Amino acid sequence: MSTTALPSYEDAIARYEPVIGLETHVELGTQTKMFCGCPTVFGAEPNTQVCPVCLGLPGALPVSNRAAIEATIRIGLALNCDIASWCRMARKNYFYPDMPKNFQTSQYDEPLCVDGYVDVEIDGETVRIEIERVHLEEDTGKSLHVGGATGRIHGATESLVDYNRAGIPLVEIVTKPVPGIGARAPEVAKAYVTELRDIIRSLNVSDVRMEQGSMRCDVNTSLNLPGEEWGTRTETKNVNSLRSVERAVRSEIIRQAMLLNDGIRIFQETRHFQETTGDTRPGRSKETATDYRYFPEPDLVPMAPDPAWVAELKAALPELPSVKRARLAEEWGISAIDMQSVVNAGAIELIEETIAAGTSAAGARKWWMGELARRANEAGVELAEVGATPAQVAQLQGLVDAGKLNDKLARQVLEGVVAGEGDPAAVIAARGLGVVSDTGALTAAVDAAIAENPDIAAKIRDGKLAAAGALVGAVMKTTRGQADAKTVRDLILSRLGAA
Ligand SMILES: [Zn+2]
Repeated sequence: MSTTALPSYEDAIARYEPVIGLETHVELGTQTKMFCGCPTVFGAEPNTQVCPVCLGLPGALPVSNRAAIEATIRIGLALNCDIASWCRMARKNYFYPDMPKNFQTSQYDEPLCVDGYVDVEIDGETVRIEIERVHLEEDTGKSLHVGGATGRIHGATESLVDYNRAGIPLVEIVTKPVPGIGARAPEVAKAYVTELRDIIRSLNVSDVRMEQGSMRCDVNTSLNLPGEEWGTRTETKNVNSLRSVERAVRSEIIRQAMLLNDGIRIFQETRHFQETTGDTRPGRSKETATDYRYFPEPDLVPMAPDPAWVAELKAALPELPSVKRARLAEEWGISAIDMQSVVNAGAIELIEETIAAGTSAAGARKWWMGELARRANEAGVELAEVGATPAQVAQLQGLVDAGKLNDKLARQVLEGVVAGEGDPAAVIAARGLGVVSDTGALTAAVDAAIAENPDIAAKIRDGKLAAAGALVGAVMKTTRGQADAKTVRDLILSRLGAA
């Protein structure tokens, strides 16, 4: 069968089994660089944070940064890895204009941390992602292509290089291939990167901001027919948001399925994720390890972390996200599955901050997981970028608790907050959205509703108080939802002599 059209995701996954793998780079937040004393401040004037060592000048000798080694060991421990008692850095040889030494000091066959795992929860089920290695290396500089419309080298009139980033410590975390997850592969990839980010953030060793590049993710994807060998993988780079991790895996599964359906073989290559279209485009064909001519770095002494020091670091690890989630689920009185939805929505910190601003757990969760999650989903943005802050949500729920807003009005106020009209109080004032509980203002509407519904009024006079709900509804309609329901009900009953 020959098809040239992209299959649907469902068709692709019905026919093929995906295997994914993730390589994540995390820039450490150390004060100084990996092998010299240069500062690492983000956004400084180009080439002001450089020295002979990070510029790779002849004769300059590197010295390893103890804080970076410590941070890497802590990451390894938090990921349940074994820590090497002895290992070395290696030279990875290749030419890049933004890498002045013409080699990157990295680790090859002697990584600092090996054989760990991260558990993620998907639909109440635990999926274990095994970690192959966590190693330490240095970042490259940054090329800037000017004169073209796109900022890419194509069409540029000149290129500039900023070496401020060259030599900043980078930790690379590599998973083992993850098979057997079927249609959930995109979701598992996103859940893993989310969990990894949260673990590293809890260690306070990096600000792990994907959009600023301090956490960067490469996603490997391959497909195979059931029962057959794993397919050839492609590596998707430039995936710089959690949502993009999910989209990249999904689009690569569809693309590879299309080729395999046509009997075309998959080449091992690097591909680039396109934020605008959500698909991947070819990059260079993938180098293999032998292309890099790795050898042990002769200018650095080996690393031999004292087991007593490692044990000390392990004992001092902070509360990790999985432990924190269990604690919060208990404090908030919700199930593990509900907690998982909170995590998946990226709402855990937003809810925590809303509670800290004075709202009940149920009140905070209701807004972030309901109306705001829906709006974020519709707009295709992360919940944190939806346009409302925890303080604003706390103010909103405070107004509901005080009877100044009902649920329907509160949703309208939230709409204004999200649209950038200011805090809830400002939106209420500008849009005239407060609850009307003034009996004088409501009596006319109540009398009109009684006059228009004589049958219902008669039932209430006969003592069938439950019928009052229909009249309350009529009044809410004529007041466009702004009447205070309790005041309206009391008024109806007293006007009909049934109170
Ligand atoms: Zn330097």
